[in-house]
Order: sequence, then structure tokens, then C-alpha cells
Amino acid sequence: RVEINQVSKIFADHTAVSDVNLTVNDGEFLVLLGPSGCGKSTLLRMIAGLELPTYGDIFIGERRATRLQPKDRNIAMVFQNYALYPHLSVYENIAFPLRVRGADRKLVDDKVRWAAELVGLTRMLKRKPRQMSGGERQRTALARSLVRDPDVFLLDEPLSNLDAKLRHSSREELRQFQDRVGVTSIYVTHDQVEAMGLGDRIVVMQGGSVRQIGTPEEIYLHPADTFVATFMGSPP
Ligand code: ATP
Ligand code: MG
Repeated sequence: RVEINQVSKIFADHTAVSDVNLTVNDGEFLVLLGPSGCGKSTLLRMIAGLELPTYGDIFIGERRATRLQPKDRNIAMVFQNYALYPHLSVYENIAFPLRVRGADRKLVDDKVRWAAELVGLTRMLKRKPRQMSGGERQRTALARSLVRDPDVFLLDEPLSNLDAKLRHSSREELRQFQDRVGVTSIYVTHDQVEAMGLGDRIVVMQGGSVRQIGTPEEIYLHPADTFVATFMGSPP
């Protein structure tokens, strides 16, 4: 469970996130949806501990996350710009978080193969990142964060570089993964179709503020205002 209490982030004179209140329930797949620049990544980065809120507090479970270092939050994050280790194979890239923890070889192997299967990389485990397409690298980054069993899984437009077909199948895989493992996830996108397909609930943001929180059906059929209606393409 993640609780965001009256959180704001102000950069110099620009308010990127403005007084956001939000609770993410255990096992929930929550989507942050909104146009470019509305503050989605900034909010996610504050949950991950990569930015500190100017005001407000964030709790992860019972712990006040705003007091914890990023490494103590047991959070996995997949960025818009993922970073792989260029000198390591796909296998070793995915295995990396487990090796750091000193996991034994059998466990590493099982988890790497499970994650690779989930993102469709089973036949590419021996390759190096430079021998792969952008989408394949992105899936490697996704697999690498899956093996860590995080308390919370933060995804910042992880499918944005994939072609339409791959994006669709990866979305399905993510949804199935979520249903099976039930890890609490917060997923950022500006694509309302993606949000409708993935989210248990959707948070619509604009200009740093939350406009509406609800299930895909609620938001699509009963938009809170004209901005939400237009953005969702709701029926008149
Ligand atoms: P996108 O969909 O384009 O990724 P976003 O919703 O993720 O957009 P953010 O990256 O959270 O948007 O940025 C929100 C606002 O805060 C933007 O206007 C951005 O220019 C501004 N911003 C983000 N980071 C900083 C920073 N480090 N310093 C100053 N302004 C920033
Ligand atoms: Mg962003």
C-alpha cells in the first residue's frame, strides 16, 4: 500500500505536482494518465525517492518513505530511458539485481528464465544490448526489474518505444503478470487506450493536479469535467 499525502513538487517557480492525495491499494494496478508535462514522472520519481517532495509525505506500507533512501524502499522502477550494462549479456543484465543480493545460482537461473519468458526474450539471453532493437532492450530492462520481487513496481511509459504490435502483446503480458503475481504497480502513460486496458483504477492528471480517480469505466462514462471527457474521448 502506497499513500501519498498532500504532495507537491515545486521546481524554482514552476509547480510540477500540486497537492496530490492518493492511496494505492495492495496488489492494485494504478495508472497515472495525462498529457505531456502534467507531472506524472515527477510524482513517480518522488515515490521512488529520486526527488523529494517540496511539501507532503509518502508512505510505503507502514514506513514513511520520505525518510528512506531510494535503496531502502524496495521499489523497482522502469524508466522512459532504461539503462542496461552494455558489456553484459541479456542474461547477466536480468540477473544483475539477484547477483548483487548474492542469490544462489539455481535461483538466479530460474528467475532469469521466468522473467525472460514473460517478456519474450528467451532466445536472446546470450546477446549483448548493442545487438538488440530498442524494444528488445526495453523488455530486458522490464525483465531485470521483475526478478527483484519489489514491494512496489513503478513503470514510466515502459512500452513507449515499442511498435504497435509489440506494445499490445507486452501490455497483455504485463496485465497477466499483474493478475498472477499481484504486485502493487503504478504505471505512467499518456495513452488513454493503454490506461483503460491496464488499470484497475486510473488517475487523470493535468497541470500537476489530480482531476479524477476511478475505474476505467467510471472515468470513461462519467468524466468529472470537460478536460477528462475530451482526454478520454468519452461519449457525449
Ligand atoms: P511526459 O509525458 O512528457 O513524460 P510528465 O507528465 O512525465 O510528461 P514531468 O516530467 O513530471 O511530466 O514534468 C512536469 C513538469 O515539471 C514539466 O513542466 C517539466 O518541464 C517540469 N520539470 C520536470 N523536472 C524538472 C526539473 N528537474 N526542473 C524544472 N522543471 C522540471
Ligand atoms: Mg514523463
